[in-house]
Amino acid sequence: MSMVSLTLLGSTGSIGVSTLDVLARHPDKFRVFALAGHRQVEKLAEQCQQFCPQYAVVADETAAQALKSRLQAAAVATEVLFGEQALCDVASSGEVDAVMAAIVGAAGLMPALAAAKAGKTIYLANKETLVMAGGLFMHTVRTHGARLLPVDSEHNAIFQVLPEKFDGDLAAAGVESLILTASGGPFLHTDLNTFARITPAQAVKHPNWSMGQKISVDSATMMNKGLELIEAHWLFNAPPAQLEVVIHPQSIVHSMVRYTDGSVLSQMGMPDMRTPIAYCLGLPERLNTGVAKLDLARVGALTFSRPDFVRFPCLQLAYEAMQAGNAAACVLNAANEVAVAAFLAKRIRYTDIAALVAYCLHNHGHQRAEALEDLLALDQQVRAAAQVWVRNHFRVLND
Ligand code: NAD
Ligand code: MG
Repeated sequence: MSMVSLTLLGSTGSIGVSTLDVLARHPDKFRVFALAGHRQVEKLAEQCQQFCPQYAVVADETAAQALKSRLQAAAVATEVLFGEQALCDVASSGEVDAVMAAIVGAAGLMPALAAAKAGKTIYLANKETLVMAGGLFMHTVRTHGARLLPVDSEHNAIFQVLPEKFDGDLAAAGVESLILTASGGPFLHTDLNTFARITPAQAVKHPNWSMGQKISVDSATMMNKGLELIEAHWLFNAPPAQLEVVIHPQSIVHSMVRYTDGSVLSQMGMPDMRTPIAYCLGLPERLNTGVAKLDLARVGALTFSRPDFVRFPCLQLAYEAMQAGNAAACVLNAANEVAVAAFLAKRIRYTDIAALVAYCLHNHGHQRAEALEDLLALDQQVRAAAQVWVRNHFRVLND
């Protein structure tokens, strides 16, 4: 294959760094066109030195100045841009073949949409794009001939074990359901009576995966699995009734497809995101990744159990939002982003995350929104309402 020219959105994050690790092993196959790292200027400067992209994108003018002076000192020729429009530009440039969408949260939506509109190959890590605007995003991908490959390990696993010719028709493919595995996170066995006292430091310590802070908290509440249900719903055109979740604490089976003949196919591997990332990058080729070999004899046992909605109310909220439709999922996502940020800032308790999401779904979940501007307006409206809730709650907490 000829050299693939790549833009990495969120290059300084957990997925971004894992992606660059894979790319560095295959300099003959990939060339980095642009890196985007928001406010992590130091890390981004190092990445520019190593990968010499044409462009680097940061959050604002201050970050741009800081990056420029670092690059100048290191004699790196990378041009520095800033702001959301610049993210969209480097995601849709004619010089780019493929875009790794690995920004965290709703901030990833506009650049991912820009890549879709430009018909790019999109490696999608940013699941919030599909939760916020799944219908719109999938429609954009289809109408502009973009190619969408899932990076999220569960969806990547499903993608790997679906028939190669799968075209969005699960029935025609003989599929009965998709089974998402979930580790259950750090609080799978924690005494429920102590949940209100869970600290951010405890919540971000995932037993198997090393990830960004937001997705780590989402994994602890299992909101992550809820977001992934909605992600699977859009990616694979799967109605809610054909989506299952099973707890699998070892994180070795990354997800499964249940076929109508009784077969269940799974993809397994060590919990290391370089595997699904490399699958996307290399398709149809398999790339070397440096991922440790799976030694099943050493793992010993693979166990499975049903999720408990009392322990994980966020999972139930996500199910409800998925059933209610597009706008409710957008509400769920916005409320959750505010809640997780407030929890990490120690402004609300761990148990308040689900309470705040439920409050927002109750108040805004019935609204209708399908067009982009309506979804963005709804997102803003819910964030504002959630902030008020946090402020009131914070006062109570500290009285
Ligand atoms: P992270 O927090 O480690 O990194 C986030 C990246 O986005 C950083 O490069 C950061 O600079 C950038 N960023 C943050 N806010 C931004 C903003 N407002 N505008 C532009 N850029 C911004 O997160 P992560 O763990 O790498 O996750 C990234 C995405 O991938 C998330 O949507 C997450 O759900 C998804 N994902 C992650 C993993 C994982 O193992 N880490 C697995 C599956 C899916
Ligand atoms: Mg996942």
